[in-house]
Amino acid sequence: MKKNIAVIRGDGIGPEITVQAINVLNAVAERYGHEFIYDEVAMGGVAIDAYGEPLPDEMLEKCKAADAVLLGAVGGPKWNGVSGDKRPEKGLLKLRAGLGVYSNNRPAKIWKQLSSASPLRPEIVQKGIDFIIVRELIGGIYFGEHKTENAGGQLVATDVLTYSESEIKRIGRIGFETARKRRGRLCSVEKSNVLDSSRLWNKVMRSLAAEYPDVQLTEMLVDNCAMQIVKDPSQFDVIVTENMFGDILSDEASMITGSIGMIPSSSLGDGKRGLYEPIHGSAPDIAGKDVANPIGTILSAAMMLRYSFDMDEEADAVENAVSSVLDKGFRTADIYGKEAGTTLCECSEIGKKITENIGKRK
Ligand code: NAD
Repeated sequence: MKKNIAVIRGDGIGPEITVQAINVLNAVAERYGHEFIYDEVAMGGVAIDAYGEPLPDEMLEKCKAADAVLLGAVGGPKWNGVSGDKRPEKGLLKLRAGLGVYSNNRPAKIWKQLSSASPLRPEIVQKGIDFIIVRELIGGIYFGEHKTENAGGQLVATDVLTYSESEIKRIGRIGFETARKRRGRLCSVEKSNVLDSSRLWNKVMRSLAAEYPDVQLTEMLVDNCAMQIVKDPSQFDVIVTENMFGDILSDEASMITGSIGMIPSSSLGDGKRGLYEPIHGSAPDIAGKDVANPIGTILSAAMMLRYSFDMDEEADAVENAVSSVLDKGFRTADIYGKEAGTTLCECSEIGKKITENIGKRK
């Protein structure tokens, strides 16, 4: 297969980690007989320096024309003084809106080799943690009306939470489709004992369930879910939820896995085109030192193979290569605990080892 990938290396550690993911993708192309064509896109601080804005329209067009977008990270202290609408993060918001991605998907997975990095008790971690949170990204209370008024001699603030059937249906489908590609279990998280929007959420999810007989749908109140994520995370496969609940739960879920450098993400809309990026930022404190962990970006590339290109075997090969390198004890500084049998590696070194583990064409 031939696929066009828009690549945003970005700022800080962005270029260092992105090149490792590209090397891995090239090894996948070589082994499985695919052709990946990369189109370089300037976004973030580098685009502000070159063009005076964080994502020029022609750069956005390149992303829209691609089959998928791979992003390292953007931002850094150099651009902290830039005015609001020109900040590097604005490029990210423009990109998400321009691509029409309304679903953010974050896996929470503990690699057995790194289980000691989790703040949870070993007996909880041993049961296995491997789930995805599918979060609605462009609706709900973050996008409703916000106002603060003087009423009866005091200030009163209002934030409106609105969801339409169609908004719920489209994120619900991503939840069901994701569960279908995994272990077939979808937990819909809401607050239906209080909120009308959650009662509508449940109604739509139940109606969708009829179209996905191979997926088992369950419902859970958000407060209970927050507890269950730390009490018994092994029960979850895919969680689908609205914007604010997903914002909070996905940060909770990333904490229990131990390291920010290991976690990938995807953002999807209608169709197969998606945006793939690690969840961390540009880490200016370690930029240019070749010490960053590139695994979150490499695993983002694996998600791209699985969800945008339907290349499940190839995605498995990338995840297995990461696992195998961790098995052999290779660690970047952020996940290096000086345990016996482990070796401290640079970013480029661990990237090379993962690339080599993809294997050659059969
Ligand atoms: P950060 O995620 O960049 O860094 C937080 C801490 O984690 C730092 O100590 C950093 O060294 C470490 N870290 C992050 N990624 C790592 C990796 N791959 N390997 C090893 N260690 C890693 O968050 P921050 O410091 O709050 O933000 C720095 C800049 O990144 C800011 O300008 C911020 O706006 C931007 N940012 C960008 C994105 C994005 O591009 N999607 C997301 C978040 C923050």
